Amino acid sequence: MPHRFSVNDDHKTIAVERIQRLFELAEEVSKKHPELSDRYVKCAWRIVTRYNVRPPRDLKRKFCRKCLSFWKPGVNCRIRVKTGLVVFTCLRCGHVVRLPYKPKK
Ligand SMILES: [Zn+2]
Repeated sequence: MPHRFSVNDDHKTIAVERIQRLFELAEEVSKKHPELSDRYVKCAWRIVTRYNVRPPRDLKRKFCRKCLSFWKPGVNCRIRVKTGLVVFTCLRCGHVVRLPYKPKK
């Protein structure tokens, strides 16, 4: 018998793939059409809440969870590195995200 995921798991896998794709698109258009990338982020976030999925970890540093804007470092987002921490400040709404910093292996 082939092993099958439940329908629910399937939906979630597709949802996560879609979220990732939307962020890729957001990144692609961010230079020319920043307002469009914000729309992609909002779209992705809608999927996150609708399917109750955990967004991929690296997305935490790519957008503001509060005002849902796509972060462009130095443009609408300030990044400060402290000991063991990276602090992201959204320049649009002031939301602050602190993430533990681990050097890439
Ligand atoms: Zn914000």
